[in-house]
Amino acid sequence: LFDADLPESSARGATTRATVPVLLPLALDEPYTYEVPAGETLAPGDFVVVPLGPVKRIGVVWREASARPVDPRKLKPVLARLDEVPPLPPLNLAFADWVAQYTLAPKGMVLQMMMSARLVFEAEEPRFGFRGGSGVPSRMTDARQRVMAAVADGAVWSKKRLMDAAGVSAAVIDGLAEADALIRAELPRTRAFAPRPDFAFASLSDAQLTAAGALQQTIAEGGFSATLLDGVTGSGKTEVYFEAVAEALRHGERQVLILLPEIALTNQFLERFERRFGCRPGEWHSAVSPKERARVWRGVALGEVRVVCGARSALFLPFTDLGLIVVDEEHDPSFKQDDRVTYQARDMAVVRASLGKIPIVLASATPSVESIVNVQRGRYRHAVLPGRFSGNALPDVEAVDLRAVPPERGMWISEPLVGAVNEALAKGEQALLFLNRRGYAPLTLCRACGHRFTCPQCTAYLVEHRLRGRLVCHHCGFSLPFPKACPSCHGEATLAASGPGIERVTEEAQNRWPDARLAVLSSDLVPSTAALREILTRITEGDVDIVVGTQLVSKGHNFPKLSFVGVVDGDLSLATADPRAGERTFQLLHQVTGRAGRFGAPGRGLIQTHFPDHPVMRALVTGDREAFYEAEIGLREEAGYPPFGRLAALIVSGKTRYDAEGYARALALAAPEASRIQVLGPVEAPLAIIRGLHRQRLLVKAAREADLQAYLRAWLAGVDAPRGGVTLHIDVDPHSF
Ligand code: ADP
Ligand code: ZN
Repeated sequence: LFDADLPESSARGATTRATVPVLLPLALDEPYTYEVPAGETLAPGDFVVVPLGPVKRIGVVWREASARPVDPRKLKPVLARLDEVPPLPPLNLAFADWVAQYTLAPKGMVLQMMMSARLVFEAEEPRFGFRGGSGVPSRMTDARQRVMAAVADGAVWSKKRLMDAAGVSAAVIDGLAEADALIRAELPRTRAFAPRPDFAFASLSDAQLTAAGALQQTIAEGGFSATLLDGVTGSGKTEVYFEAVAEALRHGERQVLILLPEIALTNQFLERFERRFGCRPGEWHSAVSPKERARVWRGVALGEVRVVCGARSALFLPFTDLGLIVVDEEHDPSFKQDDRVTYQARDMAVVRASLGKIPIVLASATPSVESIVNVQRGRYRHAVLPGRFSGNALPDVEAVDLRAVPPERGMWISEPLVGAVNEALAKGEQALLFLNRRGYAPLTLCRACGHRFTCPQCTAYLVEHRLRGRLVCHHCGFSLPFPKACPSCHGEATLAASGPGIERVTEEAQNRWPDARLAVLSSDLVPSTAALREILTRITEGDVDIVVGTQLVSKGHNFPKLSFVGVVDGDLSLATADPRAGERTFQLLHQVTGRAGRFGAPGRGLIQTHFPDHPVMRALVTGDREAFYEAEIGLREEAGYPPFGRLAALIVSGKTRYDAEGYARALALAAPEASRIQVLGPVEAPLAIIRGLHRQRLLVKAAREADLQAYLRAWLAGVDAPRGGVTLHIDVDPHSF
């Protein structure tokens, strides 16, 4: 491919050499400069191989020359261009620059996200399927006829698809192949993603038509716009934004990106897409195989993949002609990535739309406070779906005051919830018991000496996972077999579970309703995507009476028979030190109770809480969403929190508290004076120790007009980089602060 022993370039003198900036996917802020080999031309976006010290690296030709002066004698040549890899489109380069500028992440790390697929497409083994042949079987059964009708279109069908389409067994296909009525043929190598905008129309309600019309209008107008598609759960938002997708595909045949939280990217959603557009979209999330990733990456870059449905990192795919972005469940906290490059995908999607001068749609039943405020400020448009598509009312939600009706000792389901589950079961409907906590019990303690099991590497209790027989740290993954005796007082049979996890609620449900068919949905209990799909199908088809689930059930699914949702601990996410705790709790509980009664019978929700008078509980019970947002917005404004002010967290980690504190204090001392910017701390981070690293946190609070990034850059330029195992992590717009 390339020859590392190219003639020494320095032989040709220093004056006339053309150079290019090449960005490498490493923790580097700027590109390095390389020499362009004589006779070659390289353009921004080209993938090239360059020497870096003793090794060769793949990088991308960048836009501007690096500001750093280069010693001509040290200038190294670009070794090769990877012609088989489509170049990164110019907008991706601009986007990477923007994201790095905003998040203060090294630009090379942003590039790394854009290269998160095997870039070189290896030749694939051919795969075989069947097409119609000239042979005639001796007997033509109905089943055989259906197969022959399917292949009449002349296309090559995989065996599996043919079996599905004709509703026949493998033996039927084999029989036809033996008679030469089917012949083996090579399947096309690239899977065609050719969605057809007019494949299957949904007949929209009037409200849907109005909302869809507003979205289509933004596409017809062209240019950047952001629209909040705001409609209660079950109002038919998906159908509405599908119309916008169809319009983008028709209008100039542009590419479309639909971003969803990872756990909402289920088969149910993809099948829905397929029913509407006649093909699967390109998929991009953590369960996609490396080979498929490579295929999607390349297909997107070549413009062959027209629609991508993906989790947050799909935003960094090399779209050549992106015409529309949809962010569904835009309020979802999982759009925020916390490791490596710390970014909020919903916000960066708005930036990407603005750079590309295209419309973006943000959809949610419980929008983020930020998006609501953007509507109020007139920066976002507002398309509203006021009621459920089915015409059903939203579920009737009540709070169960745990102080007044506590569950029996050692139990977690109170009488009112038991009654409501019984009622649903008696009517042949489904009930969901929701608890957002994995495992059996969040704390194990010794009744004799009071010993509590904590993680040796984190400031956290170990969570009992009874089905696995282990105590597990939910922060670092540390685990140990469940001990036979207390390690402190050596008492036997003195260890007791304290508090409920999803396994414990399941156990209680099993005891209370021994005849009910139970399904448990918790990420650690569902072994694979296939298993998850199977459970979801069983629930959808009504083969389950009681679902016990964590947040895995809270979004992306429609359970037609579900009529009751019981929340086991409504206070769980309220208790955190996160100023967004109220908003988060409201969103989560509104979404999960909104699963009930989407289709048939009107739904009901009960929330067990110790604080029935808390504004969040009141808003959930009265259904007065607007009052909740108004109060929440008032609180944020008063405190100068986003979106009324800007925040950044600086997290310093070190092997000892002394190390972390030392550097954090030095940082604080070096913080420049600025009139609208305040530096708070250092203090211990909310989780003071993770994986054995001690963490200190500084919080930077700035007025909305202040240039937070410029301030941070000036500050960090004036301090020594951390040393001795200490690291500094910058989180602009932190989620918990
Ligand atoms: P949301 O995304 O707002 O929660 P969905 O788009 O999932 O709502 O719609 C809720 C249910 O109503 C889905 O099962 C969907 O198939 C159905 N639905 C919505 N709009 C239509 C329509 N125009 N025609 C038929 N069914 C619809
Ligand atoms: Zn741990």
